[in-house]
Amino acid sequence: MPDKTDRDRHRQRQYAYTAVYVLLSLGLLMWLNQSLVRAGRVQEASYSDFLKSLEAKRVVEVAIGSEFIVWQEGEGKDAKRFRAVRLPGVDDGRLIERLEQAGAKFTGVPQDDFWSNLFVWTFPTLLLIAFWAWSVRRLPGATQALSLGRSRAKIWDESSVKVTFADVAGVEEAVEELREVVDFLKHPERYARIGARIPKGVLLVGPPGTGKTLLARATAGEAGVPFFSISGADFVEMFVGVGAARVRELFQQARQKAPCIVFIDEIDTIGKSRAGARSPVSHEEREQTLNQLLVEMDGFDSSAGVIIMAATNRPDVLDPALRRPGRFDRQIVIDSPDMNGREAILKVHARNVKLAGDVDLRIIAARTPGFSGAELANVINEAALIAVRRGRDTVCMEDFDEAVDRVLAGLERKSRALGEHERAVVAHHEMGHALLGMMLPHADPVHKVSIVPRGSAALGVTIQTPIEDRYLLTEPELRDRLTVILGGRAAEEVVFGHVSSGPADDLQRATSLASRMVKQFGMSGEIGPVALEELPSAYLGDGGPGLPAYSQETAKKVDAEVRRILEESYERARSILREHRDALTRLAQELLKREVMSGEELRNLLEQMGIRISEESTAAEPAP
Ligand code: ADP
Ligand code: MG
Ligand code: ZN
Repeated sequence: MPDKTDRDRHRQRQYAYTAVYVLLSLGLLMWLNQSLVRAGRVQEASYSDFLKSLEAKRVVEVAIGSEFIVWQEGEGKDAKRFRAVRLPGVDDGRLIERLEQAGAKFTGVPQDDFWSNLFVWTFPTLLLIAFWAWSVRRLPGATQALSLGRSRAKIWDESSVKVTFADVAGVEEAVEELREVVDFLKHPERYARIGARIPKGVLLVGPPGTGKTLLARATAGEAGVPFFSISGADFVEMFVGVGAARVRELFQQARQKAPCIVFIDEIDTIGKSRAGARSPVSHEEREQTLNQLLVEMDGFDSSAGVIIMAATNRPDVLDPALRRPGRFDRQIVIDSPDMNGREAILKVHARNVKLAGDVDLRIIAARTPGFSGAELANVINEAALIAVRRGRDTVCMEDFDEAVDRVLAGLERKSRALGEHERAVVAHHEMGHALLGMMLPHADPVHKVSIVPRGSAALGVTIQTPIEDRYLLTEPELRDRLTVILGGRAAEEVVFGHVSSGPADDLQRATSLASRMVKQFGMSGEIGPVALEELPSAYLGDGGPGLPAYSQETAKKVDAEVRRILEESYERARSILREHRDALTRLAQELLKREVMSGEELRNLLEQMGIRISEESTAAEPAP
């Protein structure tokens, strides 16, 4: 059934838990009763049996109550106990005498069985209550009232956060930004005096294993403040209301210990957009937890000295409410490390490992494109393990080679680990964009070219920085732009003779730009200066494709014109790149080596090669 909500499923699970507990408890009660009765098992007998046993001197000990008489025969292991009802109304005057004769020990019992009954029934009951209370604590949702306020948030205090920025490598930009946070935590009064508003929330965004959690801890370690952390994953499997209570308690503790850092790891688990897809946490729980988080964040000003940090690798699914001013208004992006970054990370993790003389971490960095910090840490560890297994006392290059293979094999990374050929194709593709971006007079300057795989999406990227925000674009500018967009595909064709499926996205962008040129900007001679509008889709208002408000014949012409513009631009890209094929391949080789090149580096190389760079493209770059 499609509409079986998370909540329903949660209910069911809750019932299942309750049933299991009731059954367990009943079983326990029965077992306890049984064993208690067995321990003091007493056989029923008659008074005459007692007299016979007494005669035969088998009786060792006797307890005489007002209604019962209980006696024991035999000692130790073969001791047997019997019980007989005393004869009502008969005063056995000779009983004492007989007992003495038989040499049995005898005592009186004030009220038969009362105490033993009491014990047999109350003891298990008490035990049951204790067990129930214990289980309620273990299972946070079983009874809300009892489990509220039991925070599982892990708390590190000042002395135990030993991680500092020295343990984090390859993410210098992020560290620089976080230094400001550290400074604030160290000297909150300075900021308060001037009235500077420090960001309340810092959101760390990046692929898994790039060191987000590590950075958050290092920030606390660097500032020497307590670190309170809770993971969105802790809210998984939780019942409604508990998450919100935890958030409340977390912030309450944080306020008492300020200055400090509150860290919410994997915030996407609770901060998922309300419209978002399914998650393991029930909707209601997630929403309550999220709301509580928002309330807490709004509830105090940052001069209190509490900085809230959060990490996610799914910024796209986050509820927009989290990004509003006064909440997570500062975002720090942490990318997969480039080659220099990887080398730095390897260095950090190799600190405590004895390396042989032949080890060159730079070569290992070059061999591990797309590896995250966590994976690199793993490589070092694997290499050390391999060295130990081979009976060496230092780790040598051979061990590293095997470790890289092993880590690679352990990763299901079809989309990320590119083969040699694929990397070459991507490098030429990006260089095609970049080279044209540099050479065409009206193109935006190239800021950065990268073939560091980014998550699952793009294999490479060329970032251009517009010189200024432009509302007016001339036709030559748009044509240059089209040529740059198609340049990736053209480069692939020029160098390899065929194109890959990679540039599908480029084609889409180019097509939509060309079609706007024809339909909205009147830049096609064939169609003329006419704006061809589309009626918004009438029924659904869903932003779907509208109905063209022009004739079929015009539509055909539009298609032909769009095609013509695209073909011309593509041809232009191809011919320029063909002409500069040597430069293209040389630059692509360089990019393969360096993985990332800034606009500056690219310009220098082009100048060395004597290639004319368009004037506009050399204009000063605005800050990124
Ligand atoms: P994330 O939270 O981004 O998924 P973690 O912070 O949990 O990643 O990283 C896991 C481990 O990988 C860290 O404990 C550290 O050993 C290693 N690591 C990841 N990134 C780096 C880095 N930039 N520098 C040093 N070590 C790193
Ligand atoms: Mg993490
Ligand atoms: Zn492209």
